[in-house]
Amino acid sequence: MSLTLGKKQLLINGEWRDASGGKTMPVVNPATEEIIAEVANASAADVDAAVAAARAALNGPWGKMSARERGRLVWKLGERLMDTIDNVAKLETLHNGKPITESRHIELPMAAECLQYFAGWADKIGGETIPVKGNSLVYTLREPIGVVAAIVPWNFPMLLAVWKVAPALAMGNTVILKPASQTPLTALALGEIGRAVGLPPGVLNIVTGSGSTTGQAIVDHPGIDKIAFTGDTSTGKGIMRSAAETLKHLTLELGGKSPNIVFADADLDAAIRGATVGIFYGKGEVCAAGSRLLVDKSIKDSFIAKLAERTKKMVPGDPMDPKTRLGAISSKSHLERILQYVEGAKKEGASLVAGGSRADIGTGKGYFMQPTVFADVTPEMTIAREEIFGPVLATIEFADVDEAIARANDSIYGLAAGVWTKDIKKAHYVASKLKAGTVWVNTYNVYDTAVPFGGYKQSGFGREMSQHALNYYTQMKSVWVDLNQ
Ligand code: NDP
Repeated sequence: MSLTLGKKQLLINGEWRDASGGKTMPVVNPATEEIIAEVANASAADVDAAVAAARAALNGPWGKMSARERGRLVWKLGERLMDTIDNVAKLETLHNGKPITESRHIELPMAAECLQYFAGWADKIGGETIPVKGNSLVYTLREPIGVVAAIVPWNFPMLLAVWKVAPALAMGNTVILKPASQTPLTALALGEIGRAVGLPPGVLNIVTGSGSTTGQAIVDHPGIDKIAFTGDTSTGKGIMRSAAETLKHLTLELGGKSPNIVFADADLDAAIRGATVGIFYGKGEVCAAGSRLLVDKSIKDSFIAKLAERTKKMVPGDPMDPKTRLGAISSKSHLERILQYVEGAKKEGASLVAGGSRADIGTGKGYFMQPTVFADVTPEMTIAREEIFGPVLATIEFADVDEAIARANDSIYGLAAGVWTKDIKKAHYVASKLKAGTVWVNTYNVYDTAVPFGGYKQSGFGREMSQHALNYYTQMKSVWVDLNQ
């Protein structure tokens, strides 16, 4: 066992401390299978302490700070993240297995930008005055919700945390951040950045620990006002049930099985690139991954043949190598789960046209997977219905526009969708008919902090990023003033 990063503590009330029960849990590098750190496994008592600290900060220095000063601190979080980006990017790659290029040049710059985007909103959100009948002055106030818990998964550990932390802090809430057990290191780095820029104690608490104990203690805690969650749909449903007991505010960003639709009149070379980016970026461990490729029957055979050829050229490599574009699957159990889906698809009659096996990058270690494409998938097959969350693409044919739309919408999920066509009328028509929170036309997997992101149907509710996210971190008060003499 090589403990390269040592022991990591909880950040509560601005201080690093061990879990009260002294428990820890290991963090594994999925590319080498080595334990790289031991992090504190917080107990319910630690959650209690974090809630008390967050509440005290809300009633104390943070609550009293001007919105502009708050915004300045949130801006500095982004600035400091950029100053330390090389180190933080390494941590992101070490615990998640994603290529360093993605951590260093895509995910973390987006996280820093998100912090600075929301910093700018801090002093620009106000209420309104409302003309009413009678002789009253009526105005509204936009106030923080209170103590916000952000519970995040392992696929974009820093970015998905910041999507919640940034608007929450900018709007004057305090935060308890619980990262995924597999990927706690960058959340802890964010906590240290918060200390360095001078966030008052208790404003940003980092509580590491397992979902079933630490996470559940957060969800059940009566002192927490809101849960912002990203993760699996079944976990989200459980959180919703538990949070009902204390009627917490809730935003849920959940799973997906997003359709990427290729019409025969598309720029087919661009569509092939878009199909591969759609499913293989982030090793397919992306909630919006275009995991169902719907292809026009008339071009299906040649399109899938070219796609398979391109896919076979994509090989996983050492995530720390800047040339690597496909990293390690996030954990052993997740790799096994993906391989089970592959075996199941073969049994159900889908044709494997690329990949399908575990890969070895020459070290004999690590949880690597060949990028995989299945042809002849029918809509009722398991790989067309369930979120695999890995580099596995199911291709399904359609006969015409109506069938494309029907098949695209034939899912419990509705997170994202792609449309490839040169026909502008068709593009807008199909976009209007798709039941998805994001539709990409002639592109896929592009994001901007100014654009809302979130789900339809069982992909969740609420929106992250953009000014619309601010609504989910504020509550509105109406004030009536009687002006009668
Ligand atoms: P989970 O939904 O279980 O985990 C997400 C977060 O929730 C983690 O921090 C987890 O903690 C925490 N959590 C788990 N159980 C509870 C609970 N009862 N109360 C409070 N918090 C809890 O996702 P997994 O990591 O287990 O991944 C499983 C599958 O979910 C993936 O294979 C994929 O299909 C899907 N997924 C979808 C994501 C998306 O963005 N849509 C993101 C991640 C996963 P801990 O890590 O300690 O379990």
